[in-house]
Amino acid sequence: MRSLPRPAYSARSVLELCSSSIRDADLAQRLQLVSAAIDEAEANYLGHAESASFSAIPTANDVANIVAGHEMKTLYKGTFSRKGSRVRPIYDELKAARETHGICPLCGQRDVSTLDHYLAQSLHPSLTVTPINLVPACAPCNKAKLDRQPATVGEQTLHPYFDEIGDMVWLKAQVVVVEQEKPALVFSVEPPEECSEVMRERLHSHFAIFGLGTLYSTHAGVELINNRLILMQMAGQVGVEGFRSHFLEQANSRRAIDPNSWQCAMYDALAASDWFCREGYTSIR
Ligand SMILES: [Zn+2]
Repeated sequence: MRSLPRPAYSARSVLELCSSSIRDADLAQRLQLVSAAIDEAEANYLGHAESASFSAIPTANDVANIVAGHEMKTLYKGTFSRKGSRVRPIYDELKAARETHGICPLCGQRDVSTLDHYLAQSLHPSLTVTPINLVPACAPCNKAKLDRQPATVGEQTLHPYFDEIGDMVWLKAQVVVVEQEKPALVFSVEPPEECSEVMRERLHSHFAIFGLGTLYSTHAGVELINNRLILMQMAGQVGVEGFRSHFLEQANSRRAIDPNSWQCAMYDALAASDWFCREGYTSIR
């Protein structure tokens, strides 16, 4: 997970732009009536963010018994995310994810293609157009969460606007030998001892819900193949230690950007594998 700066737009500013873009006068009027409830939901969300206890926010079917959940959904689709609408520039700005160069902050691998409601819009209608609940995401990550309400804090995935992982390394990889003596990488969640129990649980939830183990192993397999030629060329010139320092150099270069990227974990694992540095590299295929 990569952290992102919190959006500068308030729920009220987005709501007003959305409301002024709809033709349904009755709904526009009712949206005005719920604007205080939407402010309140945003303030409540921020309060829960301080203790990372989003799971404690109760679910609802409507906003203040005045606007139905499906109407908020229609508002989102018909105005906020609709191409060409007057509020769409805000949607695009939230989706830009400039800090990650347009890469999904949840998986760190695929392109951003949508905004994910961190707390599902079907369960939290009052957070449907609240920018701090809208996280840029790739389509598979967005789909993986679906309408899931975390039952406990530990079941919450990481929130790019509120969770700061800093330098704590929690993603590890290991070289394994698969069929026909071929090397492969297996990824796992291994936070340091000082990591709190609840953060440990959340890291496991994040890794499992977004299917990061499979995603990273697949890409690491391709990265190994891309390295094959250069490693075979190095073979005549360097020994085990030469390979090890080459892999550490690769890991350090990635670590500077994100110490929990799969690339960083992968190159650390290659450096740590005596078998891979000695002979395993000859079996890449
Ligand atoms: Zn993703």
